[in-house]
Amino acid sequence: MPGISSGRIMSARTLRSAADLAEAGLLPNAAVPAVERVGARYSIAVTPAVAGLVDRADPADPIARQYIPDAAELLTAPHELADPTADEPFTPVKGVVHRYPDRALLKPLLACPVYCRFCFRREAVGADGGVLGEAELEAALAWFARMPAVREAILTGGDPLMLSPRRLGSILGRLSAMPHIELLRVHSRVPVAAPDLVTPALAEALGALERPIYLCVHANHAREFSPAAMEALGRLQRAGVVLLGQSVLLRGVNDSAEALEGLFRAMLRARIKPYYLHQLDPAPGTARFAVPVEEGRALLRALRGRVSGLAWPTYVQERPGGAGKVPLGPAYEEA
Ligand code: SF4
Repeated sequence: MPGISSGRIMSARTLRSAADLAEAGLLPNAAVPAVERVGARYSIAVTPAVAGLVDRADPADPIARQYIPDAAELLTAPHELADPTADEPFTPVKGVVHRYPDRALLKPLLACPVYCRFCFRREAVGADGGVLGEAELEAALAWFARMPAVREAILTGGDPLMLSPRRLGSILGRLSAMPHIELLRVHSRVPVAAPDLVTPALAEALGALERPIYLCVHANHAREFSPAAMEALGRLQRAGVVLLGQSVLLRGVNDSAEALEGLFRAMLRARIKPYYLHQLDPAPGTARFAVPVEEGRALLRALRGRVSGLAWPTYVQERPGGAGKVPLGPAYEEA
């Protein structure tokens, strides 16, 4: 795959099958046949960094729950959708999603360092990489170049930090040089899930741009901020990258006021401003993670007075049909 070093996508130490997980003590042997069936449908990847965070003695470990497949994924509930955020109808050219007038997404690849069991793009992301070919990337960049109303280019995927620093730097540099692009944003799980990929070369590539760059770090539990993750985040910050936090409200991971408080405090300690707390998108086989909106609002209400305003993200939900995000409150008058 162009632009991804083999070590970036095929690390020998990343666990990629039910058998790998069982051998590492992350899956009971009895669960292997069902998880093999899950793996035939949805990609599996658990990095050494993530495997090292799992408390194997805790059957309800919030780290394991995010990444270790479960037989329940084989069941698709009637309300679940293959493309819950409806990227497809808003795709003018391959790899681009244009939903709002002033910003657009670029998805240069569909590979991730880990595969989250609740992912809203789980039908699209996977180990085969989904990297845009040279001609496809040129067409996507040409689309940005002829869209003067688009001021913000948002790299997502997949995980753009899986690209080699040279490839990523080149894409961001091309966007940054467009006169109408005022800022760049990258969405990534790499700093917490594969912090070793945040090399000095990667930080340098992100820091060398003419435009401001914001990195939205996806993390859902305080324990994801390991010493290695803190180091990776510090490297990015010193290079001039502004860090924001995005999380998903997940049953069994962060569905208590204590867990959310811990998560947002951990973000602030890492110099990350919590930005969005997402309501789970109804992707297939993710029902075990769903928390009702009213419960989400109650959790945020419970945080009032417990944490400073700096720790507050906006609680949002993607509207069906790709109509965009709507804030879910709680409203001030409800407090
Ligand atoms: S890193 Fe992001 S895109 Fe990749 S599987 Fe997790 S949630 Fe999905």
